[in-house]
Amino acid sequence: MVTEQVPGKVDMDKLVSLCKRRGFIFPSSEIYGGMGACYDYGPLGVELKNNVKKAWWKANVQERDDMVGLDASILMHPQTWVASGHVEGFADPLVECKQCHQRWRADHVKDGRCPACGGELTEPRMFNLMFKTFVGPVEDEASVVYLRPETAQGIFVNFLNVLNSTRRRLPFGIAQIGKSFRNEITTGNFIFRMREFEQMEIEYFVKPGSDEQWFKHWVEQRFNWYSNLGIKKENLRLRQHAKDELAHYARDCYDIEYLFPIGWSELEGVANRTDFDLKQHSKYSGKDLSYFDEETKEHIIPYVIEPSAGVDRSVLAFLADSYDEEKDKEGLRVILRLHYDLAPIKAAVLPLSRNEKLIPLSREVYDTLRKCWMVQYDDAQSIGRRYRRQDEIGTPFCVTVDFQSLEDRQVTIRERDKMRQIRVPIEVLKPTLEAKLYGEPLDVLPPGGKKWLGFE
Ligand code: ATP
Repeated sequence: MVTEQVPGKVDMDKLVSLCKRRGFIFPSSEIYGGMGACYDYGPLGVELKNNVKKAWWKANVQERDDMVGLDASILMHPQTWVASGHVEGFADPLVECKQCHQRWRADHVKDGRCPACGGELTEPRMFNLMFKTFVGPVEDEASVVYLRPETAQGIFVNFLNVLNSTRRRLPFGIAQIGKSFRNEITTGNFIFRMREFEQMEIEYFVKPGSDEQWFKHWVEQRFNWYSNLGIKKENLRLRQHAKDELAHYARDCYDIEYLFPIGWSELEGVANRTDFDLKQHSKYSGKDLSYFDEETKEHIIPYVIEPSAGVDRSVLAFLADSYDEEKDKEGLRVILRLHYDLAPIKAAVLPLSRNEKLIPLSREVYDTLRKCWMVQYDDAQSIGRRYRRQDEIGTPFCVTVDFQSLEDRQVTIRERDKMRQIRVPIEVLKPTLEAKLYGEPLDVLPPGGKKWLGFE
C-alpha cells in the first residue's frame, strides 16, 4: 500500500486524531509505545463497530430465509490450514532494505527502492503470514497451532454439522463474524491493515451450475449493503480480478473497492470458490462432505460463493465517508453524518443549563430513552458546545429540556444533519424518535411533526 492523500477526501491524520480525541479508536498498548498494527476500540468505537456488525448480521442472517449463523473457535486443528493451502501458500513476498533494515511487501514498493530511506532492497523471499503458537505445555513441532488468518475455514469444517442440525437444502449459506490474525509486512494506514482484525464472512453453498447466478446475486447484495448504509455511490466501485490474479481454484472474483483517503482499495472480496474447499477438507479429513440432492438422487459437492468483508475496513470507510465540515459563525462545525443504524449514540439529553430545577425532568427523559438506545446525558458547558460535541460523534438527535418543559412537559428535538428542530410532548418523545430512526410513520404528533419526520 502506497500512502497518498486523495484530494478532496478527509485526510487520514484528521480521522486518526478525531478517533483518539473522542474515544473511537486508540493505538494498542499505547503507554508502552504501541503495538504495531493493533488498535483498541474505545467507548464510542465499540458502539460503532458493534452497530456495523449488527447491520451486517441483520441484512445477511436475520432478514434472509437461506442463511444461518455460526461462531467457530479461533484455534483450529492444524490440518485445517494444510487442507486450505495456507501452510503452503499463505505468504507474501518480503524485501528488506539493506541500509535501514525496514521490511516491505515487495508488491507494495514502488521503483524497487526502500520507501523510507531510498536504500537498496534485498531479493524477495516468501513470508508466511500466519501467527504460530503452541497448545499444551510442550513447545515442539507437534503442538504447533495457528491463530486463524480468516474465519472462512471455521465454516467449511462445520458444513456437515450445520447441514445435519438444520436440515437445510441448497442453496443456503453460513455467516460468521470474528477475529482473524495476519502477520502483515506492510502496515500503517491506521485500521486499514491490522495484524489482529475482524472479518464478516459468508460461505454460500449452491448447486454446481447455479454458481454464476448466485455469484452475481452476492456481488450486487454486498455492494448495495454499503450504499444502503450511506456510503456515497461515487466512492464505491467493483473491480473484477484479471485471470492471472485469480486463485487457481477461483472461477471469478470481484473486489468491492472504496475510495479511502489513501486511494481506491479493497473493502470486501466476493469470490466463486467452486468446490475447492469442501473437496480439500474431504480429502484431508477423510470425511464425506458431499450433499445428497433429493431431486437427482445424487451426491454432489456444492459450489461456494464467498463474500468476505472486513469489520475494521468497513468502520474506516463509514467514518471517512460520513466526515463533514461546515463553516459557521462560531468557526468549524465537524459532523459525522453516520447512518442512524450505525451512530454510536442515538440521542443526547441536554438540560438547557445546570440549574437544579431542570435535573429531575431531564433525568426522567434520559431514563426513558436509555432503555431503548445508547443515549448520553450531558450538562457540561454551553448548549451550543454540547450540540457541536454530539455532531462530531454522529449523534442523530439532541433532546433539550428547558424551563418551559417544566410547565408544558414538552422538549425540543434537534436533528443533526439539517439542524431542524421540533417541540414534542414528552409522552410522544420515544415513539417520535423511533419513527425517525426506523422510518415508521407516527399518528400522534404535534403540528409540523409529520413534516419533520419526513412523512409529508
Ligand atoms: P489485501 O489484498 O488488502 O491484503 P486480502 O485480499 O488479503 O486483502 P482477503 O483475504 O480477501 O483480503 O480478506 C477479506 C477482507 O478482510 C478484506 O477485504 C478486508 O476487508 C479484510 N482484511 C484482510 N486483511 C486485513 C487486515 N490485515 N486488516 C484489516 N482488514 C483486513
